[in-house]
Amino acid sequence: MKPDFISPATVMRFHRALLAHYDQAARDLPWRRDKDPYRILVSEFMLQQTRVETVVRYYEPWLERFPSLLALAEANEDEVLKAWEGLGYYRRARNLHQAARIIVESHSGSVPMDMEELRALPGVGEYTTGAVASIAFDIPTPAVDGNVRRVLARFFDEERPGPAWLRGVARETLSRDRPGDWNQALMELGSTVCKPRSPRCDRCPVSSWCAAYALGTVDERPASPKRREVKKSVVTLAVFHCKGEVFLQRRPDSGLLAGLWAFPESGHEIASAYAVHLGLRPMGEHTALPPVEHRFTHLHVRYEPTMLEVDRDEKVGGDGERGRWVGLDDLEDLALPVAQRKVFESCLEHLE
Ligand code: SF4
Repeated sequence: MKPDFISPATVMRFHRALLAHYDQAARDLPWRRDKDPYRILVSEFMLQQTRVETVVRYYEPWLERFPSLLALAEANEDEVLKAWEGLGYYRRARNLHQAARIIVESHSGSVPMDMEELRALPGVGEYTTGAVASIAFDIPTPAVDGNVRRVLARFFDEERPGPAWLRGVARETLSRDRPGDWNQALMELGSTVCKPRSPRCDRCPVSSWCAAYALGTVDERPASPKRREVKKSVVTLAVFHCKGEVFLQRRPDSGLLAGLWAFPESGHEIASAYAVHLGLRPMGEHTALPPVEHRFTHLHVRYEPTMLEVDRDEKVGGDGERGRWVGLDDLEDLALPVAQRKVFESCLEHLE
């Protein structure tokens, strides 16, 4: 259905039914308790590619650790990454940190109300701009995420809702009186009722006007995109230890787990040869630690760690930039990717 054909009467009924449902049934999520723009910004960064149930566990501890934009802007990157540990997609944490610094330096410490200024912040795309602007500032602008796309495609029986169609329909159906609530109501409907599989049309507040429901096409709307193939890879890790410390390297600034501390990848070399390559002296036998499987979005990695005691030259890893020695007790305070933390835990078990 084209946006031009959406009748004002349909839009009005859609608004009335969905907002009434939202007022009565919206989940009590911690970021919905006030309209503080910083809190909304944090929630929207965390919610990118992450389920609500997961974000709920991280949201309040984050705000206790960084209660304001200024506190976040003044933190160093390692503290920020540590607080984000476990949420994944660490680029979001870096972007949020950078955004806080820009807001403090260039916007007097207040999240900008201007849509272009908001959109110019790192990590803030079209969706996040719309969400923050409408929820925090009541600016009448849509916020279209995957849930909203699915609800609109079904409600208007659109098989392939492309960006232009979505923009048009989202703008046309937006509630001018309550834009923030409207955007959240659509997202809420998508995540609790109009789910990708087995939508609960029998208890949907807008089923009376839903075109896909009437036409029996709900399961085909929107048409599924072609699945991207998940690649597989095996990564060998060298876990060098020396006098109660382990050796970590900072990963490259771009690519997978960019900039995070991790055990070195030894590639095709065995751990002892790689140790020599780094200027370390192998001291004992290799110990194979249990492999760790980890699934990234389109990559399945099997980490195969090997532990090796070494003697160290003080200069190796001394600058802290690309390599550093970390005491086993101090590793708790460092942000480690999930799979690396599992490797660290089995390393600890072996050393104890
Ligand atoms: S009636 Fe079914 S398909 Fe239509 S909006 Fe409601 S849950 Fe989604």
